[in-house]
Amino acid sequence: MNIIPIKLSVTNCFLVKAAGQYVLIDTGYEEDWDLFCKRIKEVNVELSQISHIILTHHHDDHCGLLHNILRENNSIRVVMSHLCQDLILKGENDQTHGGGLINKRVAFLINKKQLYVSMILKKKIDKSKNLKFRPYEKRECDIIIKGQTRLADIGIPLDGKIIETPGHTVDSISILFDDGDCLIGDSAANMLKFAGTKNCVIRIGDMNMYYKSWEKVISAGAIRIFPAHGKPFSIDKLKENIWKNKAQSIVK
Ligand SMILES: [Zn+2]
Repeated sequence: MNIIPIKLSVTNCFLVKAAGQYVLIDTGYEEDWDLFCKRIKEVNVELSQISHIILTHHHDDHCGLLHNILRENNSIRVVMSHLCQDLILKGENDQTHGGGLINKRVAFLINKKQLYVSMILKKKIDKSKNLKFRPYEKRECDIIIKGQTRLADIGIPLDGKIIETPGHTVDSISILFDDGDCLIGDSAANMLKFAGTKNCVIRIGDMNMYYKSWEKVISAGAIRIFPAHGKPFSIDKLKENIWKNKAQSIVK
C-alpha cells in the first residue's frame, strides 16, 4: 500500500490514496495544526482531497485536530469505533478502564518529565489541558463501526479491513491492508525502547487484551507495522516481544 506518513510533534498520522482522494488515519494534538498544514503541503495534498478520517482511538494526540480539519472541509466523513463515539464525546482520555504506565522505568521518565518532554514531545505540555480535548459529537455523515469491517463496505475503495485491537484503550482499532501493511495506532509502538517498552506503547489499559490484539494482528497476516509513535517495523518484532511485558509491572 502506498502509505504517506505525516509526522507531527508526537503522533504519526498517515495518508492513503483512494480513488483520487485521500484517507487520513488519525490527526494529532490540537497544537499541531500549523505543522499538520505544512506536512500535507509537503506531500502535495489539499484538505479538500481528504474524503475520510479514520480514528484509531479517542486519545487527544489522535483526535485533537479533528475540529480544525473539519472546519476547512466539512464533507470529510469520520470513521470510528462505536466505543470511540462515546469516549470522544467526553473530551477526555478515558481513565475509567484501569491500566497505567508500562513499567517503573517509563513511569520514572514520565513523572520526572525529563527525557519525555525534551526528547519525545519536543514541546512543553500545558498541564491543565493535558489529556483533555474539545469533545466531538458524531455527525449524520460519520461512519460508526462495530466488529471487523472491510473498507469497501463503508465506501472506502481500498483493499483492507478495520479490525478491533483493544488493550491500549477499549476503543482501539487498526487498519490492515490485504498486502500486510498495518496502521496499528497505539496497539503497538516503537518508542522508548531503552526503557523496556518492547514495542508496547507507554500507557496500557489492559495488558492481556493488548497482547491478544497482537495475536489477532499476527494471525490476520500483518507484515509491516506502522505505529502512531515511532518508526515502522516488521511483524517479527511483535512475534519476538509478545507477552514479554507483564501486567504486574504496570504502574497505576
Ligand atoms: Zn493513545
